[in-house]
Amino acid sequence: MKIHYGFSSFRLGQEQAISSVLNQEDTLVIMPTGGGKSLCYQLPALVLPGVAIVISPLIALMKDQVDQLLQRQIPATFINSSLSLAETQERLEAIKQGRYKLLYIAPERFYNQDFLNSLTDIRVSLFAIDEAHCISQWGHDFRPSYLRLKKAIELVGRPPIIALTATATPEIRTDIKKQLDLTKPQEIITGFARPNLQFGVAQANDAQKYQIIIQTIQSLPEPTGIVYAATRAKTDAILQLLIDNGIDAVGYHAGLGPTERQQVQNDFMSGRTDVIVATNAFGMGIDKANIRFVIHADLPGNIESYYQEAGRAGRDGQPSVCLLLYAPKDRYLREFFIKGDNPDPELILDIYEILTSYEQNKILVTYAEIKKRLVDEVPEMAVGTALKILESAGYVLRSKETMGQAFLQITEPALAQATINPKAKVQRAVLDKLLTNYINDLQAGWQINLEDLAEMLSCKKGSLQRLIKTLEENSAITYQPPFRGTEVHILKKVPKQKVELDFAKLKDKVAAAYDKLDKMENYIYHKNCRQKYLLDYFGDWETQACGKCDICLYGNYLQPKSTGNFSSPHQAFKKLDKTYQSFGQEMKVAPPVADSPLSTKLTQLQTFELYVKGLSVQDIATKRELTTSTIINHLCYLLEKNLPINIDNLVTMQKQAKIKKVYHQAKTDKLKELKELLGDDYSYDEIKLTLAKRK
Ligand SMILES: [Zn+2]
Repeated sequence: MKIHYGFSSFRLGQEQAISSVLNQEDTLVIMPTGGGKSLCYQLPALVLPGVAIVISPLIALMKDQVDQLLQRQIPATFINSSLSLAETQERLEAIKQGRYKLLYIAPERFYNQDFLNSLTDIRVSLFAIDEAHCISQWGHDFRPSYLRLKKAIELVGRPPIIALTATATPEIRTDIKKQLDLTKPQEIITGFARPNLQFGVAQANDAQKYQIIIQTIQSLPEPTGIVYAATRAKTDAILQLLIDNGIDAVGYHAGLGPTERQQVQNDFMSGRTDVIVATNAFGMGIDKANIRFVIHADLPGNIESYYQEAGRAGRDGQPSVCLLLYAPKDRYLREFFIKGDNPDPELILDIYEILTSYEQNKILVTYAEIKKRLVDEVPEMAVGTALKILESAGYVLRSKETMGQAFLQITEPALAQATINPKAKVQRAVLDKLLTNYINDLQAGWQINLEDLAEMLSCKKGSLQRLIKTLEENSAITYQPPFRGTEVHILKKVPKQKVELDFAKLKDKVAAAYDKLDKMENYIYHKNCRQKYLLDYFGDWETQACGKCDICLYGNYLQPKSTGNFSSPHQAFKKLDKTYQSFGQEMKVAPPVADSPLSTKLTQLQTFELYVKGLSVQDIATKRELTTSTIINHLCYLLEKNLPINIDNLVTMQKQAKIKKVYHQAKTDKLKELKELLGDDYSYDEIKLTLAKRK
């Protein structure tokens, strides 16, 4: 393991998870980001025969993940929309030949029937699903494409499944098990404790919040961190405040264009900027090691989001601060969001009535237009959610091009080519790339974000748009531009009273959202260790008080006696500041994390690492304080698992040939009999190794 991963012991939970997967059991791993989830499937993938399929939702990160594995000499590859059809075929062929141990796939791939078919004759060792919470509609990252996984798993012969996530409440866990049809899974929930994080809460009004943010950042020994705010407007306000106070900061929210967002993110990741002020749009896939603080300027909606966001601090294990600022009125904003996400039944029916009042059955409409026709003031978001609910109940159908996705379809590539003047070199080049790499998607009709596509083609978005325009003028493409509203098809026209919706389910959903908000708010008011409260929430029970959060250190000191605010926020801040300063001493006296012993099952892998490094059997035995015959047994085990062990320098080629010959003639694998037939020149070890290689 050291060879591949550069460290020699497992972290909490990893060993358990690896054993479970090696025993071919379904496994559900709930471990925080940075807790070493990927090792739980990567190591078994190396040992088990066949290729492990890994589902990962982040196409942008897939290549990096695979590159990292390749650097560690682990044969891995990926298939996603950035590859051409030819490249995809080539990779599938190599997989069939057994050249890879891990295959990363984006879940969207499983919409493609040809691709599914091509998987059927591949031997799949295990099916790993990263970010498994995306399968749950209760989660905050639901992805419909994850619902296709169950079918894909059956298609590849139902190998053992390992589902992994960093965020899972009991109900999401249940949902993951149900949706993936896990059979009596081993559940490993661990490692949520982040002993280097110092949690704290301060109650403050807006002006006080601003003051605390500035003071906190200025008081910390290292300035790198994230400030989360609930709205774009607040993000802008805090950003301005930081800049005015001479703090090097950038802002990030969904209102920025993709290029700008990328730029801001790069500035922060590379350390060109110290602080990023962001809405919760920022963070998916962010893995920056040295974030020293995460300040939440507003109450988050639930503990999952909070712990995920706060947990971006201190990935490098160094002391870091997670401060949550709270005013009782924060709750109203959260309730507003919940209402947007969970429109009243009455509102849904009103919207249905508005839609059916149009003459035609196909309406092009924006949410703002619908909103205008409603009697009561509702968040625009609620209109969108209402349409979604009506759609899932079969009353309407929304066209798919919402959220910046354009639709492209080229049915006749030859016509498209004939349309573009050969002298228009740029357009020509872009079209050629498009047709060479994505012809299948294009012929089927392709829903894609134009920025992403330009990126994939490595051309300017403008060039792509000009090409599309030319093609469209010549009817060589079916194109629907990204549209901020939606096209609604009315499927069923009935009087509003006759509309049947699952109101009970909607009620449950909204109740669950309020329940989560209550638990989040209770984080502020409860009187025991903050970290323990968070860990209890995730079901990671075996934890003690952290000893360094504001409550552990100062009892309930930071909470105001009455419901009012701090008489002096500065004073309150000073207390927090002290907390930060006590970090250094605390970390020194903390006992070092004990190396957990390797289970016997995986001892073979340790041998493997040393063997690959070029150590002799004798050296490995000495180093591991084991006998040489144990090491030989390990090598035999590894050979039987198809790991690349070259035995030619342990057993000469001539001897191997002779052993094989005798083995075939004698038709026995009893070592003693073979040894007698072969004579004293042949050792048991040599016979064992040769036989292991044969299997
Ligand atoms: Zn504590």
